[in-house]
Amino acid sequence: MNTLKTAKLLIIVMFLGVYQTGCSQTKQENKLEKQVENMQYNELTPFEEYVIINKGTERPWSGEYVNTKDDGTYTCKRCGAELYKSDDKFDSHCGWPSFDDEIDGAVKRVPDADGMRTEIVCANCGAHLGHVFEGEGFTAKNTRHCVNSVSLNFVSEEQQKAEKTKTTSKAIFAGGCFWGVEYYMEKQPGVKSVVSGYTGGKTKNPSYEEVCSGRTGHIEAVEIEYDPSVVSYEELAKLFFEIHDPTQVNRQGPDVGEQYQSVVFYMNDEQKEITEKLIGQLEANGYKVATKVLKASTFYPAEAYHQDYYDRKGSTPYCHGYTKRF
Ligand SMILES: [Zn+2]
Repeated sequence: MNTLKTAKLLIIVMFLGVYQTGCSQTKQENKLEKQVENMQYNELTPFEEYVIINKGTERPWSGEYVNTKDDGTYTCKRCGAELYKSDDKFDSHCGWPSFDDEIDGAVKRVPDADGMRTEIVCANCGAHLGHVFEGEGFTAKNTRHCVNSVSLNFVSEEQQKAEKTKTTSKAIFAGGCFWGVEYYMEKQPGVKSVVSGYTGGKTKNPSYEEVCSGRTGHIEAVEIEYDPSVVSYEELAKLFFEIHDPTQVNRQGPDVGEQYQSVVFYMNDEQKEITEKLIGQLEANGYKVATKVLKASTFYPAEAYHQDYYDRKGSTPYCHGYTKRF
């Protein structure tokens, strides 16, 4: 056993001795120790280790994030998981960062070894965060996550945006009623967001009624943000050709009109070439492809009631379905 491991074990043994904890606690600590060894976590300073691993507490008013109000996300110092949104942070004047809610599923509550309080740990790596208290009446949610600053990192909204653009590409497809195209595209791993909207027409900010009138020339389409390291444009384009019928002209299933025509709006030459290659493959297999390949122009998101239509209704598309074509 190397000295580092011995030191870690010593710390844990000391910790266990001081707090007189029972058998389950010992198991928990052993599990934690295993996690430390098995997973790639951020390296911790001795003080961070004292709080995060050994469940210590930083002095009140001493932490970096007691009074911060910037927009962003608080993440786990140890594993980087997103834990709290700045929107849920409030002033409790208790000397530690306070939140009245966590990001869904990010924080686990466990009975504290003191037998009275409820400890909160990172659901991903088990890092000690602090304690949660209820019924104090600070905010409408009546909950205070009292978190050690040292257990957290802060990622500002600007940093998040910069990070997102690095790993995000866009694609625009029109394959009939956007509800159905959005429904299937959202199920594809690597797709970060799908927005239903209008593009390819003459007017600015068209309404659904204007688009349906057929006078503006807009087409119902979806704008997809995706992570190219997870899913390629070619995979998305193939999926597009397989979730609608690319041989139908100016309609898709029961929806008839120019706003329902099949179009790939390419954002760059690479997307154009991939699309034309796939259309060539379909034609070689006997499909009379009606899909147009057009340069992308301004995309206007549709009204809110058109977004996530089927998921909100709890139903499935009536005009789209998956058919293997490649
Ligand atoms: Zn964590």
